[in-house]
Amino acid sequence: MTSRALFLDRDGIINVDKGYVHEADDFEWMPGIFELATCARDAGAKLIVVTNQSGIARGYYTEETFQKLTDWMTLRFDAEGVPLTQVYHCPFLKGPDGKDHPLRKPNPGMFMVARREHNIAMHESVMLGDKWADMDAALAAGVGHMAIIGERSNEKRNDSRYGAVARFQALCDVLPWLQKSLAA
Ligand SMILES: [Mg+2]
Repeated sequence: MTSRALFLDRDGIINVDKGYVHEADDFEWMPGIFELATCARDAGAKLIVVTNQSGIARGYYTEETFQKLTDWMTLRFDAEGVPLTQVYHCPFLKGPDGKDHPLRKPNPGMFMVARREHNIAMHESVMLGDKWADMDAALAAGVGHMAIIGERSNEKRNDSRYGAVARFQALCDVLPWLQKSLAA
């Protein structure tokens, strides 16, 4: 049996993007994130985080530091009654071929691993991100519903594929759209 997923970018969706956040002290929760997670849980969607963490490749922080923060973040989701199914991260910048690593958004690698490991029905799933690279990755992975949130949602994009992307100024505005996207 397949399940749907709410895919969440981390920085800019779960926490305020302050640039390479790696300590709980700098981790400022985005208003509205737990309401959205609750909506997804109630619709039977798995909560899956897909986050680029090139700060590890760049040497800004270590894998262990990232995991420690992830454990802390995960506990809060548990306490809110909306446990995360999995947190996928890409610590790499380049792959062996010198190009962007296949797991690194805008590539769809993390989504494809999630699909395989959790039997996700991609076309019934949702992605929330704050960058166009999040949308590119979700589009390439066949995610059915996508929304870009924050200041980049104002950017003009000529690519017709982006017609499918919903745009919101703030995470607090997303709930009705998410309910509708997960109602089908
Ligand atoms: Mg982000």
